[in-house]
Amino acid sequence: MNPAALQQYLDFAYIVAVVLFILALKWLSSPVSARRGVLAGEIAAALAVIATLNNPELVAYKWIVIALIIGAGIGIPLGMVKITAVPQRTALSHAFGALSAAMIGIAEYYVGLGHISRFEMGEIGMEVIIGSLTFTGSLIAAGKLQELLPQRPIVYKGQNIVSLSVLGAAVVLAVALVVHPQHAVLFPVMVIVALVFGVMLVTPIGGADMPTVISLLNSYAGFSAALLGFVLNSKVLIVAGALDGSSGFILSVIMCRAMNRSFTNVLFGAFGTVQVSVKESVARPVRSASAEEAAEILDAARKVVIVPGYGMAVAQAQHKLRELHDILTKRGIEVSFAIHPVAGRMPGHMNVLLAEADVPYDKLIEMDEINPEFPRTDVALVIGANDVVNPAAREKDSPISGMPILNVYEAQTIMVIKRSMNPGFAGIDNDLYYLDKTLMLFGDAKSFVSGIVKELNAVTAGG
Ligand code: NAP
Repeated sequence: MNPAALQQYLDFAYIVAVVLFILALKWLSSPVSARRGVLAGEIAAALAVIATLNNPELVAYKWIVIALIIGAGIGIPLGMVKITAVPQRTALSHAFGALSAAMIGIAEYYVGLGHISRFEMGEIGMEVIIGSLTFTGSLIAAGKLQELLPQRPIVYKGQNIVSLSVLGAAVVLAVALVVHPQHAVLFPVMVIVALVFGVMLVTPIGGADMPTVISLLNSYAGFSAALLGFVLNSKVLIVAGALDGSSGFILSVIMCRAMNRSFTNVLFGAFGTVQVSVKESVARPVRSASAEEAAEILDAARKVVIVPGYGMAVAQAQHKLRELHDILTKRGIEVSFAIHPVAGRMPGHMNVLLAEADVPYDKLIEMDEINPEFPRTDVALVIGANDVVNPAAREKDSPISGMPILNVYEAQTIMVIKRSMNPGFAGIDNDLYYLDKTLMLFGDAKSFVSGIVKELNAVTAGG
């Protein structure tokens, strides 16, 4: 095929890929079409890769094959992690994406050294800074989520000034390189400073803000890929990177609103972080109940709201919950699921698990819609959720202060399934457990729900 005709085919393939990327984002925004969205994104990425491999400017495939083997060697095991580890896996994916963008930018600089234009240097500088800080920032986020690093915010006096000075130094070095692109000694210093800034960006951020940080790092990785598209003159990379960057940015803003966090606070780490004192927890009495008693209470209810959290994901209790939902619904009891935007360990975590168990989508009710329902709810059944139902969010001196919660405390009766009195992600005690109307159902979420289902079935069988 002559080169001009081949180029037309390649351009066409890129346009199809871009359209599919846009459709993928649209479809991913609803659980009903999400699977189609994933497929569209996969086809788009495959099309873009195949078109790029057919680029007539490619001279040798050796290094590409080696890179593909290394990438697959890392990607396949990463794709097989348990769903509870997906947030840290996502952070690692961002780290690798950003690392590759930074490394290509670094290679472009050294290949072009001597004849690099100021404009190209500006593109490379921005791309390498964003790629490098996203790489180390994402590694720190993954380490915190995997609990290899402390989850609490690591802060010190004057931190913002130090962090912003480090970022400023990286920018000054980039500007100096734009003015004198041939001053090669400045380039590695700029990369190191940006890498250090990535660490400083994420270490002051506490566990409760981690979901927003992950989505922000996603945005940074997308923007560095878009800038890389300019460096490599790849239109598909510019569009895909911009889509990734802007959607991650919009998600970060939405999540900040959901958690009542200031965006600047997350963006600049400890900016404006309230220094909080964690109250010492004193042993207080709680009321507990058995599966049999819980089944009786549920059976007598007219309206039940199930509140799933991280513990449901750990126990993989979603299928048993679906059974419980079916049994209660058959008995004429109104059952719905309350979905907090940051329940679990990743955005949409509860939706994904409940959809996997075929819980009808219309039974999943978002926080703002379900909250007015709690005063009319006979039983709120909390399953492995803790921070998202913790009334401490209403207190001024709490680490989760200001975070919107599910108003479970307003229900007539509250039952909480968890294994112990241990705190959740934010590491704080929960007053909900000590209320007179609360019953603690101690045990693994899946086994306990199985027990309740068994009891209800026995009642049905016994007439
Ligand atoms: P949580 O506050 O972490 O509480 C989970 C509870 O589940 C724990 O108290 C634990 O108590 C219980 N649990 C664990 N394994 C269990 C099992 N096998 N069976 C029964 N219970 C079990 O969870 P959450 O209420 O869903 O809140 C989410 C938290 O994670 C928020 O602080 C949020 O900011 C943060 N976060 C969210 C995201 C996101 O995007 N969704 C990402 C990162 C962090 P026991 O140990 O006593 O059983």
